[in-house]
Formats: sequence, C-alpha cells, structure tokens
Amino acid sequence: MALKHVLLIATGGTVACRDNGNGLAPALSGEQLIEFLPELSGLCEVVVENLFSKDSTDITTDDRVKIAHLIRDTYDKFDGFVIAHGTDTLAYTAALLYHMLRSLDKPVILTGAQKPIGEPGSDAERNLLDAFRVICAGYAGVAAVVHGQVIRGDHVVKVDCEKANAFRSVGAPLDGTVDRTGTVRLEHVLQPTGRPEFIDTVDSDFVLLKLVPDLDPSIITFLSRYKKVIIEGYGSGGIPIRLEKVVQKLIRSGTTVYITTQCLSGTVDLSKYAVGRRAEALGAVSLGNRTVEDAIAAIQCGEI
Ligand code: ASP
Repeated sequence: MALKHVLLIATGGTVACRDNGNGLAPALSGEQLIEFLPELSGLCEVVVENLFSKDSTDITTDDRVKIAHLIRDTYDKFDGFVIAHGTDTLAYTAALLYHMLRSLDKPVILTGAQKPIGEPGSDAERNLLDAFRVICAGYAGVAAVVHGQVIRGDHVVKVDCEKANAFRSVGAPLDGTVDRTGTVRLEHVLQPTGRPEFIDTVDSDFVLLKLVPDLDPSIITFLSRYKKVIIEGYGSGGIPIRLEKVVQKLIRSGTTVYITTQCLSGTVDLSKYAVGRRAEALGAVSLGNRTVEDAIAAIQCGEI
C-alpha cells in the first residue's frame, strides 16, 4: 500500500525551541524536527511547510487563518496535515480550525511538546510520531494528539504548564488513544457528513471578561464597543446583582452577552438559580458546556 502523503506545517512552539541565552525560543525548522524521527520514513511521506516560527503566545487570529487557508489550498494534494504548534495556545488554534474546516474527510492533527525535541525526557518525539500515526490510522477531522490522547478540536483544553500530560478533552470523551508502542485506537470519532467546507474569514469583534468578586461595574460600560461579550462567571452561571444594571445597558446597546463558567466541566444552566434566571431575563445567552476556546471560535465563525 502506498505511504500516506502528509504536510507538516511547522509554526514554532517549545517542540522547536532552543535556549539562545534569552530563554527558550523557537529555532528549529520542520525539516530539522523530522530529523529526530527516523521511524517516520516507514510510516508516511512528509512534505514540510515552515509557515512561521513563533512562541504560540505570539500567534494571532490572522496566523491561525493562514494555517486554515494553507490546508484549504493544499487539501487535495495531501492525505493529512500535522501542525507542530506551541502548547500554550494550541487549544485556540484547534478550536478555530475545527470551526473553519468543516466536514473534513481527512485528518488535521495539532501537536506540540512541553520540552524541546532532542532534550532528555522530551515528549516531542512521541507526540510528533503519534500525530503521524493517527493520520495513518485513518482519523478524519481536526484533533490534537498529545500524550497518547486524541482530542477532538472543539474539546481541547490545556490544564498544566509543566507536565507532559498537559491536555484534557473537556465536555466529550477522547476520540482515541495511542499507547506507548504506537498502537492507535480510535473511538467516538464523528464521521464526516457532506462535503468538506472551508470558512474563509473570521470576525474578531468580541471580548472575554472574567468575573471576580467585587469587579468594578464601570468596566462593563466600556464593553459596548464590542458586538459580542463573553462573561466567564461562576458555577452554573449568573450575573451578580451588583452588575445587573450595567449588563442590561450593555445588552440594550446591541451587544450580545454570553455566559460561560470558570468550571472546567459541567454545563452552564441559567434556569437553575435565581441569579441565572435574572441573567436570562436580561437577555444573556448560555454557552452550555462549550469550552472558552470553542465558544470563541464559534463566535468568530458566526455560528453563535
Ligand atoms: N510557550 C510555548 C508555546 O506555546 C509553550 C509550549 O509550546 O509548550 O509556544
């Protein structure tokens, strides 16, 4: 059987970092990354695209759209795509690509590492190889492959900034696993319905506000310049009584207000408590069990 033809899109991140005396910064190209993976040659044929080389802290929505456009423009040439990415904002990229690249019948796999490739104890080699293995196993759609987990693009959350086991699938089971021997098991994978569809542009006219006790209400007054405001509240969701008036004014000015929660799992349910019902009565919209990253991407793609 012919080897799968895969495009490796290098974007920087710890996986490609070296310390040049000023702290870790991306230094290696995609070609240099795959030199560390001799096993790849028997697995698939890899073409490299060095799209940019950034700590993912510096990756913007424009950069993410560039990744989506590259995949759209080369979709017919490859059997799958691996994106080597910094882990810090990988969940935002995964979610945006999930919403921009719809009903895919090919895999788009994001991966990264907590330690640079080639360093003792690095997770980079395993994660990169696993990403290619998941492609060869026939996954379809956007996912992150990290620490042996296959996490669908709209459920990826980074929960640890040191450990190799840094990501969770929040709000959905894993789409699969890759064990230490490299064996891939795919489960719960959604089958594509219809033809692949590519969203070309996104709208970033939104802001996220995290509620903390005693938040100054006047901050909310400044948010009327945004079309969409996500308020990250507490528990099942609600607006503190002391902020009700300003939130009401904000909604009346034409801004859509969405409610999410600081809790990592569970669902925002505005019908549960009186504070939630009052928020609902003001016109606030529940984000249910979406992660913040997923909610932002859905908003940027005009789905909600
Ligand atoms: N700061 C790095 C980045 O996100 C962290 C990592 O890749 O793990 O690019």
